[in-house]
Amino acid sequence: MARIIIIGASTGGLSAAYELLREIGKAHEITVVSLAPEFHFVPSNPWVAIGWRKRSETSFSLRERLEKKGARFFSTGASAIDAEKNTVTTGSGEALTYDYLVIATGPKLSFDEVPGLGPDGHTASICTVEHAEAAYARYEEFCKDPGPVIIGAAQGASCLGPAYEFACILDVDLRKRRLRKKCPITFVTNEPYIGHMGLAGIGDSKALMEHELRQRHISWRTSATIRRVERGKMIVHTNEAGEEEMPFKYSMIIPAFKGVDAVASVPGLVNPRGFVLVDEHQRSKKYPNVYAVGVCVAIPPVEPTPVPVGVPKTGYMIESMVAATVRNIKDEINGLKPSATPTLNAVCLADLGDTGVAFAAKPQIPPRNLTWAKKGAWVRLAKIVFEKYYIRKMKRGNVEPFYEKMILGALKIKKIE
Ligand SMILES: Cc1cc2nc3c(=O)[nH]c(=O)nc-3n(C[C@H](O)[C@H](O)[C@H](O)COP(=O)(O)OP(=O)(O)OC[C@H]3O[C@@H](n4cnc5c(N)ncnc54)[C@H](O)[C@@H]3O)c2cc1C
Repeated sequence: MARIIIIGASTGGLSAAYELLREIGKAHEITVVSLAPEFHFVPSNPWVAIGWRKRSETSFSLRERLEKKGARFFSTGASAIDAEKNTVTTGSGEALTYDYLVIATGPKLSFDEVPGLGPDGHTASICTVEHAEAAYARYEEFCKDPGPVIIGAAQGASCLGPAYEFACILDVDLRKRRLRKKCPITFVTNEPYIGHMGLAGIGDSKALMEHELRQRHISWRTSATIRRVERGKMIVHTNEAGEEEMPFKYSMIIPAFKGVDAVASVPGLVNPRGFVLVDEHQRSKKYPNVYAVGVCVAIPPVEPTPVPVGVPKTGYMIESMVAATVRNIKDEINGLKPSATPTLNAVCLADLGDTGVAFAAKPQIPPRNLTWAKKGAWVRLAKIVFEKYYIRKMKRGNVEPFYEKMILGALKIKKIE
C-alpha cells in the first residue's frame, strides 16, 4: 500500500485529492494536510471584496467530504517537510510518512517587499478570502468618504488578471452607488504595457484592455515600481515620470508571490523565490517522489521586462498539472515510468463587472498556435455560471476537467448570444 500526502486543499490540492481517491484511493492511503478546514473558491474573491458575494456562498468545509471518500484529513497545515526522510510534520506536531508527496500550497504573499503594502499596511488585498472580506469592510468605509483610488500589482507580481477584474468591478460598483465622479481611478502595474498579463499579451489584449480602461476613465502607469505606501499616498516610480507621490483613499494591490515557508525551506526543492522546481512530469528535480501542482510551481517569466513580471498560473493550467501528476503517481505505483506531461496552456475568463474578457494562449510562450482574446457580456455570464457549477461539483467530489468545461460552456453561451 502506497501512502500519498497532499499538502494544500484548494484549486490544485483538492482536485488532486479527489482525482487520486478516484484513481487509486481504495488500495492506497491518501492524506490531505490543509491549513484551513474550508475550501474556498479563489476566483470569487474580487466579488467578495466588493460585496457581490458572501464568503458562505463560495466556501464549504472539507473534513466530512474527504473522510467520506476515504481520505485522512488534517487541518493544522504542514509546518515542515523532510524530503530526505519522506515525512511531513503537521502544525499540531504529528509526523506523517509518505511514499509520494503532492505539494499544492499556493503562494506566500510577499507584502513585506514593499514597505506599507498589504492589509496590515495601507492597501487592501483580494488574494485570500479573509483579505477579500477585509477589503470589503475597508471599501464600505471608503464609500462614506470617497476619493482617489489606486488598483494594481506590485513589482514581481504574476497574478494580473484579478487586478484588472477588480479595477473594472470597482468602477461598476461606484457608478451604481453614484460615487464614481468623486473617485478618480489609477491602475498601477508592473507590466510593460496594459494587457501584457504576464504572458507577453494574449491575442490583442493590449488594445482590448487599454480600450476597456480608457472607456472607464481609468488612467494607468505601466512598468511601475511601488517604492512604499504611506497612509493616503503611494510612492510610485516609472521611467517616464520618475518618482511620483500618488494620493489615494482606497487601494488594492496584488503583491509578488513566493513559496510558503514549509516548502521554501526544503534544501534543493525550490528556486530562490521558494517555488518548486519540477521536471516535465511535475516531479521535483531533486526528490523524484515529490510532485507539485498550482501556484507553488516554478515557471520562468515568458520574457524579460523592465520591471519584473511573473507568469500567472491559472485554473486550466493547474488542472492539467493535476491530471499529469495523478497519472504519473498511478503509473509509478504500478511499476511504470511517469510519462504524462501537463499542457500548461493559459485559458481564462475575466469578469469586468458589466462585461468580460476571455483569453486563450496555446502554448503559453510565444510564438503560439493559438492566441486569442474576446470581450463580451457572454464571458461574464459564463463566469457566473461556472462559479456555481465549480463549487457544486467540488462539494460533491466530482473530478471532471472543470476549466475545460468552462471554456466550452463559454463558447456555447457566445453562440446563443
Ligand atoms: C483573486 C484571485 C482570482 C483568481 N481568479 C482566477 C480565475 O478567474 N481563473 C483562473 O483560472 N485562475 C484564477 N486565479 C489563479 C488561480 O487559479 C488561483 O490562484 C488558484 O486558487 C491557485 O490554486 P492553488 O491550489 O495553486 O493555490 P491556492 O488556491 O492559493 O491554494 C493553496 C492552499 O494551500 C494552503 N497552504 C498554504 N501553506 C500551507 C501549509 N504549510 N500546509 C498546508 N496547506 C497550506 C493554503 O491555505 C491554500 O488553501 C485567481 C487568483 C487569485 C489570487
